[in-house]
Amino acid sequence: MKKRFFCMVLVVLLGWEALHQMNGAGAPADGLQIVQVMNGEGKRSDLTAVSANRVHQGNLLLVNNDYPVHPEGITTDIISLAEHGELTGGYTLLDTGIQLSKKVALQFSKMVEAAGEEGVSQFLISSGYRELEEQQQLYEQKGADYALPPGYSEHNLGLSLDIGSSQMEMSRAPEGRWLAANAWEYGFILRYPKDKSDITGIQYEPWHFRYVGLPHSIIMRDKQYTLEEYLDYLKQQQSISVKVKGIIYQISYFPVNGSTFIPIPAGQQYDISGNNMDGVIVTTHP
Ligand SMILES: [Zn+2]
Repeated sequence: MKKRFFCMVLVVLLGWEALHQMNGAGAPADGLQIVQVMNGEGKRSDLTAVSANRVHQGNLLLVNNDYPVHPEGITTDIISLAEHGELTGGYTLLDTGIQLSKKVALQFSKMVEAAGEEGVSQFLISSGYRELEEQQQLYEQKGADYALPPGYSEHNLGLSLDIGSSQMEMSRAPEGRWLAANAWEYGFILRYPKDKSDITGIQYEPWHFRYVGLPHSIIMRDKQYTLEEYLDYLKQQQSISVKVKGIIYQISYFPVNGSTFIPIPAGQQYDISGNNMDGVIVTTHP
């Protein structure tokens, strides 16, 4: 056992040496993989460099009154929905200026198609990505009770959208009921549920959905966690293993302080998202 530990330390030290040679004295490049290390069970992992700004990028970012959007967190694939007819079948847009992350629009489109097959088809997107100036105007018009200051709204990320029904109020509409029951299957969460406003700081909003991706949305539904609660839970647990739709995922929290090396199990697919607070969530699966 002692010998194995020694070997691991040696490999890590060699890795650090290689790193400094490749980057001079500067920080390691984000995503740089250095060496493979073995854990106590003999499983191999790649050490991957994660830079400090990764804390503020990804699908799981917490954005609320305490944690604003960082410029690097704004999704880089924002599109104007009216210009992408291939992504807007099955629903209407309140106006032609609505923008959203292309990745999220694609998932929304799949979700709406599934709803349509069950006869629920009067969806309307009333708001998507908002630039900071637009959020500022909204804040000035509606006031602090009804709008968030610029940078503190999830709409400033590109991952959230307000969905209505063209027939009636969302709280009574079949579209609202369908989404509350099914959105989780498509990577979306009802971000501000009725009984959680003490945690989210926002009143019930049956229209506001946020993309977090799978498997996270399904875990949050099953545990009835808000994003705040889910991120706290991951931080407490440090690592969880869950089976979702037949796939076993390992989800781990790592604190990030400056540039940090994170072990990713060798040969696994992985996704890294910041929590927008103090670390990253690494999700791996075969
Ligand atoms: Zn909203």
